[in-house]
Amino acid sequence: MTESALQKVLVVDDDAINREVLGELLKPDYTVLLARNGAQALERAARHAPDLILLDVMMPDMDGFEVLRRLRAEAQTAHIAVIFISGLDRPEDEANGLKMGAADYITKPFNPSVVMARVAVHLQVVRQRRMLERLANIDGLTELANRRRFDDIYECEWQRARRSAQPLSLALLDIDSFKQFNDHYGHAAGDRVLRAVARLAAAGMRGAADLAARYGGEELVLLMPDTNATAAQAAVAGICQGIAQLRIPHAASTVAPELTVSVGGATLLAGSIEQSAGLFEAADTHLYRAKQSGRNRIVWRHDA
Ligand code: GH3
Ligand code: MG
Ligand code: MG
Repeated sequence: MTESALQKVLVVDDDAINREVLGELLKPDYTVLLARNGAQALERAARHAPDLILLDVMMPDMDGFEVLRRLRAEAQTAHIAVIFISGLDRPEDEANGLKMGAADYITKPFNPSVVMARVAVHLQVVRQRRMLERLANIDGLTELANRRRFDDIYECEWQRARRSAQPLSLALLDIDSFKQFNDHYGHAAGDRVLRAVARLAAAGMRGAADLAARYGGEELVLLMPDTNATAAQAAVAGICQGIAQLRIPHAASTVAPELTVSVGGATLLAGSIEQSAGLFEAADTHLYRAKQSGRNRIVWRHDA
């Protein structure tokens, strides 16, 4: 199966024959979804997140322009690429469609090979955009989310926790005496350790919305929405245990003969902290305390 075979194309047309012709044309190369009116198109777009929509303009009830406007208005569907396939062949119709944010405009009667060629071009653009987004959001060494991605998600989860009055737990995990580790074993060995710790951190995030990210250097941040302090500490303790079980020798550590980490954590309980920065600072303060009080431990804020 080629990579593009996995890409999904939604064909929207009120005319059954057009749907069938386009569907048959695309089926050998893509996963094809069909919709026969605007309402169905919006529902399928939201549910299946297609990579591309071939959108008829003239349809009863809701025309293609209106469908596109509504797609753009919802965060979930706002960025889906749309190609209009329209019986309206005046230049101003085409200009209007493109101005509204369609990727392309094909007039009916369409030529099958032109449709296929344009679909292929736009799906390639979609793939490239996905890859760039991925590169912009993922840390290259550990393959965890990077700080920029974390900042975005944290802000959303913070707002959600405030609205829903659900707890939100956040922990900062920092490798102990890591500078000495690099000095003693070399930077490449340090990189391997970082990757191993990152893998355990990611595996220790159990909730669907949980996130382990590389915040910087040898510091990871763990975000656990809808998770109270007890459950969050248990998850973090599991990660620390996993790291201990790796038994990575650290002869230069000031703490123990094997690699250890320190963790500072805090939990937001309904309205207990005013700003998203406050929860992060609380975790950071507790990481500092963990370091001050001997390292190789978890210190959690209990009053929040
Ligand atoms: P502490 O126990 O107080 O946390 O001491 P530390 O030595 O771990 O902390 P410090 O902040 O003094 O040094 C962090 C070290 O982490 C220094 C830096 O070389 C190392 N480091 C940061 N990023 C990377 C990386 O990507 N790869 C490797 N190998 N080392 C890194
Ligand atoms: Mg029509
Ligand atoms: Mg450190």
